[in-house]
Amino acid sequence: MAKWVYLFTEGNTSMKNLLGGKGANLAEMTNLGLPVPQGFTITTEACTQYYEDGRKINDEIMGQIMEHITKMEEITGKKFGDKENPLLVSVRSGARASMPGMMDTILNLGLNEEVVNVLATKSGNPRWAWDCYRRFIQMYSDVVMEVGKKYFEELIDKMKEEKGITQDVDLTAEDLKELANQFKAEYKEKIGEEFPTDPKEQLMGAIQAVFRSWDNPRANIYRRDNDIPYSWGTAVNVQMMAFGNMGETSGTGVAFTRNPATGEKKLMGEFLMNAQGEDVVAGVRTPQKIDQLKEVMPEVYNQFIEICNKLEDHYRDMQDMEFTIEDKKLYMLQTRNGKRTAKAALKIACDLVDEGMISEEKAVKMIDPRNLDTLLHPQFDTEAVKKATPIAKALAAAPGAACGKVVFTADDAKAWADRGEKVVLVRLETSPEDIEGMKASQGILTARGGMTSHAAVVARGMGTCCVSGCSEIIMDEENKVFKLAGKEYHEGDIISFDGSTGYIYDGAMPTVDATIVGELERIMAWADKYRKLKVRTNADTPADAKKARELGAEGIGLCRTEHMFFEGDRIDAFREMICSDTVEEREAALAKILPVQQGDFEALYEALEGNPVTIRFLDPPLHEFVPTDEEDIKKLADAQGKSVETIKAIIASLHEFNPMMGHRGCRLAVTYPEIAKMQTSAVIRAAINVKKAHPDWNIKPEIMIPLISDVKDYKFVKKVVVETADAEIKAAGSDMKYEVGTMIEIPRAALSADEIAEDAEFFCFGTNDLTQMTYGFSRDDAGKFLNAYYDTKIFESDPFAKLDQVGVGKLMEMSIKLGKSTRPDLHIGICGEHGGDPSSVEFCHKIGLDYVSCSPFRVPIARLAAAQAALK
Ligand code: ADP
Ligand code: MG
Ligand code: MG
Repeated sequence: MAKWVYLFTEGNTSMKNLLGGKGANLAEMTNLGLPVPQGFTITTEACTQYYEDGRKINDEIMGQIMEHITKMEEITGKKFGDKENPLLVSVRSGARASMPGMMDTILNLGLNEEVVNVLATKSGNPRWAWDCYRRFIQMYSDVVMEVGKKYFEELIDKMKEEKGITQDVDLTAEDLKELANQFKAEYKEKIGEEFPTDPKEQLMGAIQAVFRSWDNPRANIYRRDNDIPYSWGTAVNVQMMAFGNMGETSGTGVAFTRNPATGEKKLMGEFLMNAQGEDVVAGVRTPQKIDQLKEVMPEVYNQFIEICNKLEDHYRDMQDMEFTIEDKKLYMLQTRNGKRTAKAALKIACDLVDEGMISEEKAVKMIDPRNLDTLLHPQFDTEAVKKATPIAKALAAAPGAACGKVVFTADDAKAWADRGEKVVLVRLETSPEDIEGMKASQGILTARGGMTSHAAVVARGMGTCCVSGCSEIIMDEENKVFKLAGKEYHEGDIISFDGSTGYIYDGAMPTVDATIVGELERIMAWADKYRKLKVRTNADTPADAKKARELGAEGIGLCRTEHMFFEGDRIDAFREMICSDTVEEREAALAKILPVQQGDFEALYEALEGNPVTIRFLDPPLHEFVPTDEEDIKKLADAQGKSVETIKAIIASLHEFNPMMGHRGCRLAVTYPEIAKMQTSAVIRAAINVKKAHPDWNIKPEIMIPLISDVKDYKFVKKVVVETADAEIKAAGSDMKYEVGTMIEIPRAALSADEIAEDAEFFCFGTNDLTQMTYGFSRDDAGKFLNAYYDTKIFESDPFAKLDQVGVGKLMEMSIKLGKSTRPDLHIGICGEHGGDPSSVEFCHKIGLDYVSCSPFRVPIARLAAAQAALK
């Protein structure tokens, strides 16, 4: 028979998976001899079983719970529902990973009218007894029966008003008794039944409610944001109560052994006398600072300090603790490794190393890579955020804080920024031609699109704040106005939004500059020591490349050449190229682009100082480049000596029903080999020039052909590249070496990787396309149904953000194996968005990639994640 229930004396901290964090640590504290009210933990497996059994607690589990109640009664000397010496318990959730405030807790369980009367008389403290009872009815109704907190809070407020008091503590025993009766009446009205009086029935109801709370909407969202699998389940802790609400010699509080915001090594905490549970955090009264406990109860304070030190020494990490004082006796109710800001995380890790408490490896392992993001971008002032009320919340697409005047077009953004205004670009969605305007903006807000929409991807790449998919926005781009939260916003109105939380605010929110403290550098140096994966960056401009190098990138894994065509008047030449009818016309247009592109590549090689640069040839469908407004069309027609109608006809002919699977990638080079020729010449000439200026740099161009599906389309384009490159090299009298390789981003290419590797010197997984081609849905449309997929648990996370290891991952593993079977020294990387996602980086490490490539601001995250993967 499986063991579903453990006494606190049977567990320890290594059993987190089974007992949840709270349960495992309550057991560990018990083992350490700390004062912990005793009880038992129902395992996370029991939770999973509960869901498997159709949300029922089966007889075997039920039986073990009952057995443990008896054991608990023996340990405590109290009895459930007893009139002499009643046992009251709390029923507390506790998952493997802490999910503060996401699930539910019920206190004072075991009370009924009879028991409360016994308690009131025997203790000589009726106020306490009735306070416990009214709290219990409140929590039970809310958590187990889902009546809703507000009805009860209204009743309390009404009572306080009638009595002319403001504080809960001023309510008398009589008042509380009256409240308890009102609560029960409320319960009966809402539920249609009497409030349950049998403690065992109460207990089973509470346990089920905690299991159920694993699946509540806020827990589901929290898990998705924090990468916690649904399958883990929560444990339930049943624990004897310690009463902080017995009067002025009792109280309750929370404390951190170090400051969770700054990392400073100083106890930080708060407590309230004559209070229970969440009173401290719920703000019913203003709590006192932990230092003041020294005056109120010096002995308890000293004992608490001793325990804090002991716990930190034991766990070798900053602890977040909950305690209760029952009539001058201290009880520990929880300890865990405290949540902290990225800044605090770095400081604490370095301090612990310096204090000799942990090793460098441990320091590297204890920092959540995802957190680092927040350090690299400007932030809103936390005090101001606390006071502000957001007008909406959308997807936190790219971190950072944006505050500025609203503009509605990329051109306006650029124009306003040029005259020194701070602007935020608000659009339905963005497209590649908005890039300049996006760059000029403090932040980008879109009404449509998901985490991997164009706006989101580009913004992350640029390190610009972006909030996407704010469906509450009613947008009227034409008239330059949008409506949100009942207000109209016009051009020039000021708004603020936070790309790390997704919150949008009316008006200006003060920002503070991001501080990159010395500790980040130390941690990164340690990470670099342990990681095996190289980290490159996706960068298209020298500025991005430089930034990425500062952040530790060891090369460029993906340079998207198309982004270079939008700057200034280059787009004109590019449009001429697209709208050419003959090869000659096209070559003439390309000849204008060649020197410009060569210049870009030279700047990139300069910025990289001899580190590898992979240049991908033109990839997107051509229609993304063509003009849409009359003026531009006319300009193009004039430039080419064609009629406006002809140009319009050419533009119309570029229309595709499914551009993502249309005329793009290497298919462009198959139809127009002269494009590949021009790009090859530009790369090779740039490399040769830079090499001449820096003979000691190791410059070996890596030319990458996108979107191949067959060894033959790859070979066709490769031949063009090789012929052009060899001719350029010969003409220059150089001995430059270069490599030609391919993106693996179509399932068919993955499946025939052995054939392809015979001709490709490297592979790079384009996991954005590979994901959409493998799933068969486009990332730009996935926003429409992903939420339904989350709600129904078909998906736990966005496959465009977190690599799907089962399907897409299998294709990757297969390609590596097949590829290396024909070319053992094949080098392989990844350059999709996943290259900067920690769990995906870990997977890349496991399957033996040589490098990951990600946007510049994710480079430190990838470095740390790679080190953690290597240290696992
Ligand atoms: P969360 O996981 O949301 O922090 P907890 O299970 O820790 O929820 O419970 C919330 C609060 O309830 C605790 O901080 C503590 O003050 C109080 N509490 C829980 N169990 C007990 C208990 N056995 N005795 C006294 N107070 C308790
Ligand atoms: Mg807690
Ligand atoms: Mg692609």
